[in-house]
Amino acid sequence: MTTATHEETLGFQTEVKQLLNLMIHSLYSNREIFLRELISNAADACDKLRYAALDNDALYEGDSELRVEIEHDREANTITLRDNGIGMNREDVIANLGTIARSGTAEFLKQMSGEQQKDAKLIGQFGVGFYSGFIVADEVAVRTRKAGTEASEGVEWRSRGEGEFTVADIERETHGTEITLYLKEDAKEFADDYRLQSLVRKYSDHIEVPVRMPKTETAKDDEGNDIEGSEVTTWETVNEATALWARPKSEVSDDEYKAFYKHVAHDFSDPLAWSHNKVEGKLEYTSLLYVPGRAPFDMYERDGARGVKLYVQRVFIMDDAEQFLPLYLRFIKGVLDTRDLSLNVSRELLQQDPQVDKIKGALTKRALDMLTKLSKDSEQYQTFWNTFGSVLKEGPGEDFANREKIAGLLRFASTHNDTATQDQSLANYVERMKEGQQKIYYVVADSFNAAKNSPHLEIFRKKGIEVLLLSDRIDEWLMSHLTEFDGKSFADVAKGELDLGDVEDEAEKKAQEETAKAKEDLVKRVKEALSDGVQEVKVTHRLTDSPACVVLPEHEMGYQMRRIMEAAGQKMPEVKPILELNPEHALVARLESAEGELFTHLAHILLDQAIIAEGGHLDDPAAYVKRLNSVLTA
Ligand code: ADP
Ligand code: MG
Repeated sequence: MTTATHEETLGFQTEVKQLLNLMIHSLYSNREIFLRELISNAADACDKLRYAALDNDALYEGDSELRVEIEHDREANTITLRDNGIGMNREDVIANLGTIARSGTAEFLKQMSGEQQKDAKLIGQFGVGFYSGFIVADEVAVRTRKAGTEASEGVEWRSRGEGEFTVADIERETHGTEITLYLKEDAKEFADDYRLQSLVRKYSDHIEVPVRMPKTETAKDDEGNDIEGSEVTTWETVNEATALWARPKSEVSDDEYKAFYKHVAHDFSDPLAWSHNKVEGKLEYTSLLYVPGRAPFDMYERDGARGVKLYVQRVFIMDDAEQFLPLYLRFIKGVLDTRDLSLNVSRELLQQDPQVDKIKGALTKRALDMLTKLSKDSEQYQTFWNTFGSVLKEGPGEDFANREKIAGLLRFASTHNDTATQDQSLANYVERMKEGQQKIYYVVADSFNAAKNSPHLEIFRKKGIEVLLLSDRIDEWLMSHLTEFDGKSFADVAKGELDLGDVEDEAEKKAQEETAKAKEDLVKRVKEALSDGVQEVKVTHRLTDSPACVVLPEHEMGYQMRRIMEAAGQKMPEVKPILELNPEHALVARLESAEGELFTHLAHILLDQAIIAEGGHLDDPAAYVKRLNSVLTA
């Protein structure tokens, strides 16, 4: 019997309360996952003890046979899970079972609505974890003691999952953790041998630690009746209990891969793809990498969890070893088990170990190959791209060596179908290139609509030349690192000279030269009127519908990037655009025939409009309105 002392009642962190609420309501039809989560935690605790014991055998306290045990009591309506893993002290218990430590959680939970369906999705971005016990239990008790501490340092945690929990000191002979679930009336079905066994097999076969359940055998007398008092209980291992990644690929089913993913990624939904490899030779490692089906809520947080679970010769070393994958693949989850590192490797040591870079190179290639393979299924790949595309776009800037490969994985919106979905590959583009076209054209704007309606596209649309429509924040930066694809270079249609390659014929070029000559005088007058607002004025044949557009010099930073830098507080040097006029447009004809003040007003209005059409901001919008009104009332 244990006597509890130093009992205190504490409130859950607000985020926990919200999560509990959400979980109980949104996961009702999926209640059985509580078992997976609790076994997953118990297995993690065993892994952690094995690791800690590498330096200090005494932590096993004479019991090095790591295991998880599950019992139930039909009468009391309880299920108990026990592990002889690392255990927790009072401080751990309060931190781990009273708060959610991930940064950004509060912010994330704030976005949630009461709509169940939506919430069930949101919870997937979270991982449900320990608190899932409350889906089936109206009370949960945890008794635990950290390995290596005194029997008197045990802790009991209890809660009804409503807003508070109690912690008390208890005597506990064994280290490790025992969790008792007091099942809800409508969850009695889980207190059943057969049910529990099948759930363990379904969810926890892949876990290396044995999960055991008691089996009671009763001797029979000659007539086949139970002999009273003859019951013998033995513990039977229910799961496969071998590390999944150590098994040959051919012996692992898709369902097992999926179940294992949920354990390593702390995710609730299925992965999109995986890649399992065993490598022997110069490097010796086994990797099992996964592409998740959805993004965690903290993907863009600087300190969000990322990286693989690291094992050295089957011994768990650490979670979230981020040194083995580049930042732009931070969404990849999985396991790396290697012989090339020492068992006492630490995060600090990983940073210096030359083997780490070699493995990182190899895993990067594996991950990119896995994505390339996934891209053959356009529907699945689209799901991937919509979720993680903007992260992958960091790739060409970060990973020079794999630029070409990453370029092949990129997807863009394009004038080919004019939809906002980024679903066109560069290979698709190249296939559709016009005869004589040498470059891959793109336009960058702040929004899809601004890109789609950019005046710069007019001539391209007229000639049926495809242009990629870029509007993600990262796009201009991305394009500054992509120089070539399939031997074709890229050209921003809003920068430098318009160069349609051989798509234009000689006759067209000649006609353009003639127009330019005829408009020399107009160009000179406009340049004078706008003296310090523009770098140059030209006539153009880029435009079919708009009267004018602004163009930046070839190597100048684009407008999108400038705005991002400015928003980040960077002071950017002033850049004067080149104003190009459409000689066919009525407004330009009107300009040509205007004199004096009207001419100056019209010239400014054309420039300002061109800047606005580009998504730019006018230095002096009031002056623009004034000029416009003055022309309108003239
Ligand atoms: P996660 O497993 O994703 O970290 P959980 O909600 O499942 O989140 O668990 C929260 C934390 O509680 C764990 O990270 C661990 O520190 C602690 N914990 C839960 N179960 C156990 C256990 N059986 N033994 C030791 N620690 C545990
Ligand atoms: Mg967990």
